Amino acid sequence: LLPAAADLQGRAPTLGVLGGGQLGRMFLHAAQQLGYETAVLDPDPASPAGRVAHAHLQAGYEDPQALQRLGGLAHAVTTEFENVPAMALKTLAAHVPVSPSGDAVAVCQHRAREKAFIQAAGVPCAPFADLVDETGLAAAAARPELFPGLLKTATLGYDGKGQRTVNGAADLAAAWADLGRAPCVLEKRLDLRVECSVIVARGRDGACVHLPLQQNLHRGGILAVTQVPAPDVSPGQAQAAVAAAERIAAALDYVGVLCVEFFVLADGSLVANEMAPRPHNSGHYSMDACDISQFELQVRTLAGLPLTPPRQHSPAVMLNLLGDLWFRDGADRPPRSPDWISVLALPGTRLHLYGKTDARPGRKMGHLNIIGADAAQVRAVALQACDLLG
Ligand code: ADP
Ligand code: MG
Repeated sequence: LLPAAADLQGRAPTLGVLGGGQLGRMFLHAAQQLGYETAVLDPDPASPAGRVAHAHLQAGYEDPQALQRLGGLAHAVTTEFENVPAMALKTLAAHVPVSPSGDAVAVCQHRAREKAFIQAAGVPCAPFADLVDETGLAAAAARPELFPGLLKTATLGYDGKGQRTVNGAADLAAAWADLGRAPCVLEKRLDLRVECSVIVARGRDGACVHLPLQQNLHRGGILAVTQVPAPDVSPGQAQAAVAAAERIAAALDYVGVLCVEFFVLADGSLVANEMAPRPHNSGHYSMDACDISQFELQVRTLAGLPLTPPRQHSPAVMLNLLGDLWFRDGADRPPRSPDWISVLALPGTRLHLYGKTDARPGRKMGHLNIIGADAAQVRAVALQACDLLG
């Protein structure tokens, strides 16, 4: 248990984070609000979190000297992206409390391991096959129930990257070659009615709290819109998803914030898709619609502060702001910033920009939370915002 910042007169403890992206930045803001000093390890001099940290260690994640410095500086360390080398977390754990653990993160880093773990925890996921070599290729091709399927690289995939559609067994070898014959999982393409996710926060004592279930809409493999409450998920389905996420967190002996993505299928059944060992894009609405945000939950689990159940005080829609918005007049024109003044003139809009200096199509630049008195009004404002943003 780390003392709360106010407990140490004049010497606030330091919370460290591996990774300097927007999730790290929002974590740091929450930590700073609670009076903590902050440190980031990220090689990028312009990283969104590095620019707001008390200390930015600008080095690679496996740099032994940088890890040692972070371990000396920080009183507890967490991560903001799942591809942080599990080794770095384990190295740090010898010097300072680290959560989530390198072992838990390692499960989330590898799709085959992750799916096997989810199933072993008693939560269904899509039928899948592990594909690492020619034998695996032949074995997967011989399972007609996996087609049409999606071939996904086992590691490093995000925002729909590293995925190929495979219509039939005859196309599998070519799709695998297209992914560089990297270790993959082939999974059955399911008929999705709705996508949703659940964020749980689990403390060192095993106590678990959760945010209300999020309904998510993806475009081109990237999250576009989150709505909470979820209009198309029944209370029973939401309850089952929360129970499944808590079961997975307990099986991982997880400490920290964990997000589990789910699909609701056409027959109403629920399957888990993947998990993220950190706050998640779909939880950003909690910054403005809940009394405790997912980032404050991360701070609380890391510092051992009380984990009270978060309460949502307003319905919310979250719109992701991708770099495409800067190029909406066509890629041949110089990029120009969207009209934030008009967006902010709409009632209940809360703008979050991540301080990234160059916009690129598909790059997450910020998000817009819309809150209000009732879900219908919030949706109406969200539609107006979409119109303004083009
Ligand atoms: P990423 O790590 O890129 O988020 P996901 O496994 O979540 O990878 O896939 C991205 C999106 O692709 C999902 O949100 C969903 O829309 C779609 N998708 C993934 N797996 C399946 C599947 N088995 N059946 C149908 N759609 C899928
Ligand atoms: Mg996903």
